[in-house]
Amino acid sequence: MLKSHSCGELRKEHVGREVTLAGWVDRRRDHGGLIFIDLRDREGVVQVAFNPEVSKSCHRVANKMRSEYVVRVSGEVALRPPGTENPKLPTGYVEVIARDAEILNASKTPPFYINEDVEIEENLRLRYRYLDLRRPRMKDNLILRHQLVKFIRDFLDARGFIEIETPILIKSTPEGARDYLVPSRVHAGKFYALPQSPQQLKQLLMVAGIEKYYQIARCFRDEDTRADRQPEFTQLDLEMSFVDEDDIINMFEELFIALVPAIKPEMRIIQPFPRLSYTEVMNRFGSDKPDLRFSLEIKDLSDVVAQSSFSIFSSAIAGGGKVKGICVPGGATYTRRQLEELTSLAQGFGAKGLVTVTLGESAGGSLKDLTLEMIRSAAAKFLTLDEIKAMAERLEAKMGDLLLVIAGEPKLVNTVLGELRRTIGSQLKLADPNLLAFAYVQNFPLFRWDKEIGRWDSEHHPFTRPWDEDIPLIDTSPEKVRGRHYDLVCNGYEIGGGSLRIYTPELQRKIFRILGYRDEEIDERFGHMLEAFEYGAPPHGGIALGIDRIVMLLAGAETIREVIAFPKTQSAVDLTFNAPSPVSEEQLSELHIRLREE
Ligand code: ASP
Repeated sequence: MLKSHSCGELRKEHVGREVTLAGWVDRRRDHGGLIFIDLRDREGVVQVAFNPEVSKSCHRVANKMRSEYVVRVSGEVALRPPGTENPKLPTGYVEVIARDAEILNASKTPPFYINEDVEIEENLRLRYRYLDLRRPRMKDNLILRHQLVKFIRDFLDARGFIEIETPILIKSTPEGARDYLVPSRVHAGKFYALPQSPQQLKQLLMVAGIEKYYQIARCFRDEDTRADRQPEFTQLDLEMSFVDEDDIINMFEELFIALVPAIKPEMRIIQPFPRLSYTEVMNRFGSDKPDLRFSLEIKDLSDVVAQSSFSIFSSAIAGGGKVKGICVPGGATYTRRQLEELTSLAQGFGAKGLVTVTLGESAGGSLKDLTLEMIRSAAAKFLTLDEIKAMAERLEAKMGDLLLVIAGEPKLVNTVLGELRRTIGSQLKLADPNLLAFAYVQNFPLFRWDKEIGRWDSEHHPFTRPWDEDIPLIDTSPEKVRGRHYDLVCNGYEIGGGSLRIYTPELQRKIFRILGYRDEEIDERFGHMLEAFEYGAPPHGGIALGIDRIVMLLAGAETIREVIAFPKTQSAVDLTFNAPSPVSEEQLSELHIRLREE
């Protein structure tokens, strides 16, 4: 190699050694006579001193060096003079006294600082991603990602899993998004679809007798711009034969309990992972991916206020609705403006209104002594003191707290309170950033009613097996059928999901019919699956974990773009390559494509 050591590895024990380093100029300081260069490579930064008394020619070369120049330096490792050490830097007790130096390549002035962790406009970072990735934080994210994937591979290898690649050019494998299509040159007018996941392929591998498969798989989903999605993303995709839910979810619990201390020792993990039903998480947290690092639980107040003369409450309950609330600790100090903001947030999520009740001015004192004068609430004139106290008690509130109460259709009440819970959790910084609170959510409904197209859709995907005892309900009350589906959630994100699968052609066809497919369509799109199930398909199930999201959580990053080497923008554009881009008329004609004037 062009170097004998890496910059970041030099320590006191290297003092006296002759080394050759190569890397980038992180910083250059000219102390009139002495020039110091902080030289950076992947492993870190070390100081190099250029003294004209040691080598005039070398000092002359250093004079020409600028930020981000690529240079090679040889010299002796020495202790830094007393008083000039930098204990913040792992190499901070030593420096290299340069005897020889060479500029390998020059650099234009970069469009942003690489040696300072400052806020930079994201599009500029994406346009010059190769420079952005030079920044230590980004480099560390890529290393963390590598360590995670390596850990997973070793873990699964030790348990008898085989990594198998599946095709990218294939047919639609629906996961609820639009497909990316690739036109065929050889077969005019026909298209491949990029897989939304390897779902059908991994199931066919089970029919093939592989028994334990996994893949670090790229998936493609053409979704409308949503906050933190990427058109292509990576998942750990896994499938096993002859298993029940517990075999799969226990193994993943074990994986994370081993993985986190190994690659992110500063983070704590709550174990065992709670297993909650979909109904329970919706009722308690208003979300199917709750952040369990803090409580702020939703409580049902319907029985407490059913007889209230406050008609918003009593009429909601009489109409089959619910009244529920959460308690914001110390929230009595919220200003009127803050309360209005919470109300418009609730309205934005579909609630008719939000009842806010502050209990006293500040903490201290007993709720027993609460009087109507101590309460700030537009609803106070309609509610009795006893009703307010009963609500406060149910919500385990103390003096100085704030009650947020919503009345209406049960599902809506839960989801709006869930959003308020999430907002307040982050406003009050209730979640410990070094804690990972995993949980499994189970017993999802198999179907959800798609209002827009007026038909049933799969809550997960069409291959999920329903509970045996719910199969008779498929024709009579599809909404009551539960799927053998499990999601793994962590800190408010869904990081994985999977299910036991259908493995008989009859049941699979029945599900497709409920989803509105005609028989010819089923045969055209999924005939290969139904046929495979006629050749001794074993019972099987699997899971997929979002690698990008897990690395994001471990890295403490804000978006998955921070942990993907070359992500696309929120509008699905690659700014370095400027993709997508137009293609030549010749290419289009080879693909039998004529563009339409829009
Ligand atoms: N195919 C599913 C997904 O990509 C995961 C699974 O069911 O294994 O979300």
